Amino acid sequence: MDRAAWARKYRKTAPGWAGMAWGNITLRVRHDKDYAGVELRMTREEFIAWCVPAITVWWKKNPGKKPSIDRIKNEEHYSIDNIRILEVGENSRRSPAKKNSKAPKGKAWCSGHQAYLSIKLFSPAPSRPPLFVNNRCRECKRAEYRRKVECRST
Ligand SMILES: [Zn+2]
Repeated sequence: MDRAAWARKYRKTAPGWAGMAWGNITLRVRHDKDYAGVELRMTREEFIAWCVPAITVWWKKNPGKKPSIDRIKNEEHYSIDNIRILEVGENSRRSPAKKNSKAPKGKAWCSGHQAYLSIKLFSPAPSRPPLFVNNRCRECKRAEYRRKVECRST
């Protein structure tokens, strides 16, 4: 099994998914200007300790669905008491256009990160309505060029 296949498989385990989710959160807080006022108020250890059992239960209740980390109160920070797991649209990976038609203002869907990121992180793509940006952020595109399937989070 090559590294990419291994990574895809690992992401489907609770610790693997939790680690990826943590990477996405830290990336958003650090690099996404729309998260400028949002702070990370938990450690990686605290997050993983919360997330591994939470995602295990969620998968049991929602077989075949895609989870994402959501802030309960959107104006508050990333902390253990303000996060929960919610479903991402099931076909989001295959239809970024659908995701982008309901994107929050100033954001676009990255099918690499599986998250809405600031639209400034995307390259223009005239053939892709409705936002006319790529379906992956520049960072994910660069990773693709390097023939790395995984989204780099650090
Ligand atoms: Zn991305």
